[in-house]
Amino acid sequence: MTGSCPPGADEPHILILGGTGEARQLARDLARWGSVNFTSSLAGRVRDPAMPVGRVRVGGFGGVDGLRAYLRAGHVTAVIDATHPFARHMSANADLACAAENIPRVVLRRPGWCEDSAHDDLRWHRVPTIEQVPTLISTIVHAGRTVFLTTGRLDLSVFSGDNHHHYLVRTVDTPDPGDLPPSHTLVLSRGPYTYDAELALMTKHDVTMLVTKDSGGDLTVAKLHAARELGIPVAVVERPPVPPGSTCVSNTTQALEWLTRALRIDHPAETVTAG
Ligand code: NAP
Repeated sequence: MTGSCPPGADEPHILILGGTGEARQLARDLARWGSVNFTSSLAGRVRDPAMPVGRVRVGGFGGVDGLRAYLRAGHVTAVIDATHPFARHMSANADLACAAENIPRVVLRRPGWCEDSAHDDLRWHRVPTIEQVPTLISTIVHAGRTVFLTTGRLDLSVFSGDNHHHYLVRTVDTPDPGDLPPSHTLVLSRGPYTYDAELALMTKHDVTMLVTKDSGGDLTVAKLHAARELGIPVAVVERPPVPPGSTCVSNTTQALEWLTRALRIDHPAETVTAG
C-alpha cells in the first residue's frame, strides 16, 4: 500500500480497479478534485507497473469474498472498474461483490478496434477466444513464416505447441520459457508505440500475420496501421462480455460524470481532463 491513510467511515471512498491508462487518468483527475478519497488497485502482475498517483494497493483481493471484505473494511462508497477489457475475472468479481454490498459500480470500457469503421479495411480474422488462434494460423499462414504475437505474456502457452511457424513475441515482462513457442524471437517492451517503429519492427522480422486482442485505445493502435500498410492479416481476439446489467461508460469523463451522480457530489465533470 502506498499513499495516505485509508478514509474513515464518514468519508466517501472510491475504489478504482486499475491496470490501464484510463485508471491512471482517473486517479489524476480525482487527485485534482482534491476532496475525494480514492484508492487505485493493481493486480501486481507486471514487475514494474506504471503507478497511479495517490493511494495504491497491489495484489488480488481473494475472490468475491475477499473483495467484499475489502469493500466493507475500506468503507468503499463507489467502484470504478477501469480494468483492461480482457480482465474478465476481476470485472465479474466486482459485479458480484458490489451487488452483494450494495455499492454502486460503473465499468469503464474504451471502444474496441474491430467495431471501429476506421479499421474496416483491415484484413480482420475475428476469433472469440485466444485458444482458437493457432488453428487460424495453421490455415492461413504458411509454415516457416513469422507471426507477430502481441496478446501478452500470460496467454503465450496457447502457442507453445506450434512447431511450424516462427513467432515474434512482444511482452512487457519476460515470459515463462516453457510458455514460448519453439521458434521465436522475444522483444521486451512496453507501449505506447509509434507507427514508424511498428512498421520497422514488422518489416525487419518479415511478419506475415499480426495477432492482437481487441484492446482498443490509442497507445497500441499503431500496429494496426502498420499491418494495413504491409497488407497482412490481423487475427483479433474478441472481447469477453461485460457482466450483464452493468452500467458502462467509454471514457474517463463519462466515468467521472457517473461518479458525481452516484455520490451526489458537487464536482462538475467538465472541469476534469478526459483520458
Ligand atoms: P483477470 O483475469 O480478470 O484477474 C485475475 C485475478 O487477478 C482477479 O480475480 C483478481 O484476483 C486479480 N486482479 C485482476 N485485476 C486486479 C486489480 N485491478 N486489482 C486487484 N486484483 C486484481 O485479470 P488479468 O487479465 O489477469 O489482468 C490483470 C490486471 O492487468 C488487470 O488489472 C488489468 O486491468 C491489467 N491488464 C490486463 C490485460 C489483459 O490483456 N488481460 C492487459 C493490460 C492490463 P482476486 O480474485 O484474488 O481478487
